[in-house]
Amino acid sequence: MPGYELIDNEEFLELKDLFENSKILFRHSFDHMRNGIYKVKDFEVAFAKRMNARHSLAVTSGTAALRVALAALNLKDGDEVITQSFTFVATVESIIESRCVPVIAEIDKTLNMDPIDLEKKITKKTKAVIVVHMLGVPTRLKEIKKITDKYNINLIEDTAWGCGGFYEDIPLGTYGDMGTYSFDFAKTMTTGEGGMIVFNNENLFNKASAWHDHGHENNPNLPRWEDSRSSSGFNYRMNEMQGAVGLAQLNKLDVVVHNQRKNAKLIVDAISDLPIEMRTIPENSFETADALVFLVENNSIAIQCRDALINEGLGTKILPEAISWHFAGTWNHMSELMDRNGVELYDAFPKSLSFLNRSVSLPISVNMVDDFESKIRSALTSVLM
Ligand SMILES: *Cc1c(COP(=O)(O)O)cnc(C)c1O
Repeated sequence: MPGYELIDNEEFLELKDLFENSKILFRHSFDHMRNGIYKVKDFEVAFAKRMNARHSLAVTSGTAALRVALAALNLKDGDEVITQSFTFVATVESIIESRCVPVIAEIDKTLNMDPIDLEKKITKKTKAVIVVHMLGVPTRLKEIKKITDKYNINLIEDTAWGCGGFYEDIPLGTYGDMGTYSFDFAKTMTTGEGGMIVFNNENLFNKASAWHDHGHENNPNLPRWEDSRSSSGFNYRMNEMQGAVGLAQLNKLDVVVHNQRKNAKLIVDAISDLPIEMRTIPENSFETADALVFLVENNSIAIQCRDALINEGLGTKILPEAISWHFAGTWNHMSELMDRNGVELYDAFPKSLSFLNRSVSLPISVNMVDDFESKIRSALTSVLM
């Protein structure tokens, strides 16, 4: 789960540097007043280097990152964008905000996009696919990219939960055309609110960079009012305080992921003999272990597991309790989904529901309570044995 557990003197010193030596909180301009301090720019450069990407663009949130990534694709009203049934509501919101039609693909037992169902949902109007590395487990990127390449469709990775993970030794977020990240307060690294997009394609980067800044084709050698522009845009600029905190948090990313993986392994070892089925992890993937998900026989047993964990002073994350914010079948407040799937939205993704309904997700953090693995074992044993 969270970089917020590690917020400490390093973040404070970055902010202190900003307030003592610059006081300019805007990412651009004021060049003669800021002592060469550009925190957002430095954060972008450091993030791109860490992810081995050619470019990166900092924005105000993970949701904004998705919106800006879609803007870079020059989509037309009514174009279709496919994402998966199990994700946070923000992924679909970004498609609706882009005036595109959200199309929902089923998940498989990785609890990420099912490549077979993806191919079935592609039409002539499909222009992009957004896969999500839910709870830190990589999507089947190889199979999915084969399909998006075959139909010449753009692939975006919503890496809000996968920051710091890898697939075939490639950092999550950089396998497709663009990768988006969230730095909200509950994510693997945090800037309070914030997000990032990574690119290997220069044209997509240039378009996104201008669009997130009212169309400014930013030229650092000219005053801002002389910037050229070629389309309308919006404002999703990150500010210098977020950039400063991001620089310190990025240095802690590997520590967060290492500790989460270590804690997840302790839990797996403690519960693997119980009658549960672990979520499938795709081959050649390196998960961030944001949570540990397993499947039980049915929904009622999943809820009993949650209650038993709460009795031990522990809890679950998203599954089974918060499915309503993370499963598209429950989003009948979105007319765009109702229009396409009909009033029986809840039954429109039966394969996904058959997995999600009986999944239990254990939150993993850097600092866990004492003896967490034996407490988890004893709670689950009381229900399952
Ligand atoms: C958190 C999250 C987002 C949105 O990020 P914010 O920074 O909170 O706007 C998008 N997609 C997924 C999968 C997320 O978990």
